[in-house]
Amino acid sequence: MLATALLCFSLLLSALPVVSAVSLNESEVEASTLLESNLTSSSLSLGQLAGLPGYITANEEPVDSKKTDYPIDYMPIDGGSATPAPVHTLIIVDDKAKSFLQNIYNDLCISAEATWSDTASWAYNILEGGDDPFWNCFGIDYVCNEYRAWVSPSGTLKQLLDWAQQTFPKPAGVEVTFVFTGQGEPLVGGYGERPGDAFIVSACAMNYLCPLVNVWQHEASHNYGVYDHSALDFTVCIMSGWYIAVTRSWCSGCYTTITQNRYHFG
Ligand SMILES: [Zn+2]
Ligand SMILES: [Zn+2]
Repeated sequence: MLATALLCFSLLLSALPVVSAVSLNESEVEASTLLESNLTSSSLSLGQLAGLPGYITANEEPVDSKKTDYPIDYMPIDGGSATPAPVHTLIIVDDKAKSFLQNIYNDLCISAEATWSDTASWAYNILEGGDDPFWNCFGIDYVCNEYRAWVSPSGTLKQLLDWAQQTFPKPAGVEVTFVFTGQGEPLVGGYGERPGDAFIVSACAMNYLCPLVNVWQHEASHNYGVYDHSALDFTVCIMSGWYIAVTRSWCSGCYTTITQNRYHFG
């Protein structure tokens, strides 16, 4: 049921709150401090851990039994003759995502402080894992142009997506905004404009046992015009709330829609 409510928000219009921004250079994004030894005894599943800085990205092969629970279910590579241009992305991470990462470090008995750089690395890994099916099926490759660190006000995911875009307009050369927040709503993992050029993913989806790379793929898909499947529709698809946590595939209908809109960016 995770995704079925993603586009069912009532739009609560409110004044843009005062926000503050922290500068973050791409060069500050660096290797992480997570260690395999810290993770061996963790109760977190591989799907939950996917994308954490220093651990694995979604397209890596499982190397031990602990990691075999990751639901890899890629569609075959589509042999399209034309390759769309890269999708240039602005990544915005908020302080709640940073706190969320700190809590994970604490749970894993990692003494390091979760930094903005770590948090941006986490978001970047989610992007790189999340876009693998886009690349495999459509030749679409998301790349990160710039990062922003954001002390976000409290709001719904839809509000946060709007506020983030108002606070950090896309710089020249950037086509899409990806917001990564530690704020959440019950059983909602993200929100994506349909169609559009922005989406948000909540780290809280981990608590609903949904890999964040799957949420990323789902929300990014909305930008290409695909809808959520209804709760009465049991089609296996990343756009289905029943299957979002266990598949990386699109159904034939969603696949066709994205194929038709594959040049939405670039
Ligand atoms: Zn959705
Ligand atoms: Zn579908």
